[in-house]
Amino acid sequence: MRDNKLFGFLSDELERQNNSIELIASENFASKEVRELCGSILTNKYAEGFPGKRYYGGCENIDNIESRAIELVTKLFDAKYACVQPHSGTQANMIAYYALLDTGDKILSLSLDEGGHLSHGSKVSFSSKYYNVEFYHLNDSGRIDYEGLKAKALEFKPKLILAGFSAYPFEIDYKKIKEIATLVGAYFMVDMAHIAGLVAAKELDNPLRYADIVTSTTHKTLRGPRGGIILTNNEEIIKKVNKACFPALQGGPLENIIGAKAECFFEALDPSFKEYIKHVKENTLTCANEFSKMCDINSGTENHLFLLNTKLSYGVTGKDAQELLEEIGITVNKNMLPHDSEKPSVTSGIRIGFAAITTRGAAKEDAIEIAHIIHDYLSKQIDKTIAISRVKNLIKKFKKIEEI
Ligand SMILES: *Cc1c(COP(=O)(O)O)cnc(C)c1O
Repeated sequence: MRDNKLFGFLSDELERQNNSIELIASENFASKEVRELCGSILTNKYAEGFPGKRYYGGCENIDNIESRAIELVTKLFDAKYACVQPHSGTQANMIAYYALLDTGDKILSLSLDEGGHLSHGSKVSFSSKYYNVEFYHLNDSGRIDYEGLKAKALEFKPKLILAGFSAYPFEIDYKKIKEIATLVGAYFMVDMAHIAGLVAAKELDNPLRYADIVTSTTHKTLRGPRGGIILTNNEEIIKKVNKACFPALQGGPLENIIGAKAECFFEALDPSFKEYIKHVKENTLTCANEFSKMCDINSGTENHLFLLNTKLSYGVTGKDAQELLEEIGITVNKNMLPHDSEKPSVTSGIRIGFAAITTRGAAKEDAIEIAHIIHDYLSKQIDKTIAISRVKNLIKKFKKIEEI
């Protein structure tokens, strides 16, 4: 049996992915092997519990797979303990909070509109309903205001301080935040969802050196299946995390996805992954520098993404820029800028990331051409037809999604 309508939509999506330039900073293209495991017979198996302690029989192979995932991810991030069952980054955060906090406890984090994540205490998220959340802020250059963070921590006395963001183009001074957390007796949690690939490749500082607990997704720069993980060096914390994961918040683990996570960790341990991440950083910096030559209103970058102020540069909101670029086959997302005066649904800028397109083989000269296409089109120096033909020309050089 086969729903042809459904499989038609699947091939439409393959075509869309092949025929556009993907610059959404949180996306990537997983390998054939990762995708094979996602779609494998591992989906058939119930395995509530953890390796060696399952509620169901027939788990010996599943135990090997989940143990392999744990072995590889702890090696990759130099962590003592890992939970690889969280279904997504949001679930990983929910589990981490549940493990360390009681409802009503205080969390100090960065707000969504300054680069944080929904699950870090946004009004529309469970996190603000179950916990008492206050925010620290960015300074005028778009970097964390560490002095402000310290003052807020001393005044608010949080039980947990959270760092790790969705739209922050700079390195984070974990040491400084850990000192503040120690000063006020708070847990220090880092959500490295966006930058996990850069950390794995040792192209950014490893937050495990300082944080009590680290959460992440596996599908962004880490280039694995859609999912979450939790890491720690603290034995008491991992016990609480596992209990919070199952039975408190999740049911049976997605062992097909856990298998795919293990493959992704394996791939990230290979020297070729470090090369890939170096290229991601180089492409991002090259593109940001190119924009600086033309409009000088981007955030700068020290990782895989940067923010472009489209309102000041081209007189278009982030929302309009996103829609205009979509018309010519370039996919980006609108993003709030630090101290943005526009609503979250409008915004003054866009977020540009190079993890996905670099997986397809984009090189430095392609990053330059991408900056020029965006600049030329948004500043109305070229029309849609020309922009589309330049996009198509670039895409010809890139690897097909199904070959990755
Ligand atoms: C993407 C992201 C998440 C959430 O991941 P989902 O898998 O979409 O739930 C959490 N935190 C940060 C910082 C993120 O960037």
